[in-house]
Amino acid sequence: MNHILIVEDEYKIARFISLELQHEGYKTTIIADGREALDDMLENDYDLIVLDVMLPSLNGIEVLRRLRQSKDTPVIILTARDQIVDKVNGLDIGANDYMTKPFAIEELLARIRVNIKKNNAQYVLGGLTVDVKSHQVRYNDTPIELTKKEFDLLVFLLSNRNKVITREQALDVVW
Ligand code: CA
Repeated sequence: MNHILIVEDEYKIARFISLELQHEGYKTTIIADGREALDDMLENDYDLIVLDVMLPSLNGIEVLRRLRQSKDTPVIILTARDQIVDKVNGLDIGANDYMTKPFAIEELLARIRVNIKKNNAQYVLGGLTVDVKSHQVRYNDTPIELTKKEFDLLVFLLSNRNKVITREQALDVVW
C-alpha cells in the first residue's frame, strides 16, 4: 500500500485530502508543523509527500530544500494562488509537481498517481536496468555508481526514449 504524507496546517484541508486518499486505497499520515514534518520524512520512507508552503516553524520551501539534501521522495507542493514565487522556488529546488489552492481534488489525485508511478518505474534497455525508486543502475548485472545528476539525466533520457529532446529540455529537467 502506498503511504502518503500530508503536510498541511489547515486541519480541514488536511483531513479532506486524507479521506479522499484513503478512499482511493492509500495509507496517509498528517503533520501540521514544518520542522516536525521534516524530521519525520527524513526518518520514514513515504511514497509521496503533499507539502503546503505556509507552515508553522519551517515553511514548505525550506522543508523541501533540506529534504532534497538526502532524499528523492516525490513531492507535490501546495501553494496559494498568489504565491508564484513559491511555485518557482519549489520547482527549482526539486518539487516534482505543484498545485495551486483552491484545487480540484480529482486533479490532485491524478497527479499523485502519475508521480508515484514515475517513481516506481523500472527501465530495461539492452543490458541496462535502472530502478528509479531504489536508484539502482546495473549493466549486465554489474552495479554502476552514478552521481545524482547523472542518474536524473539517465532517467530523463530513458523516459523519453525514441523522442528527440533538446539540450534546453534536459537542462530544465535535470538542472
Ligand atoms: Ca498552510
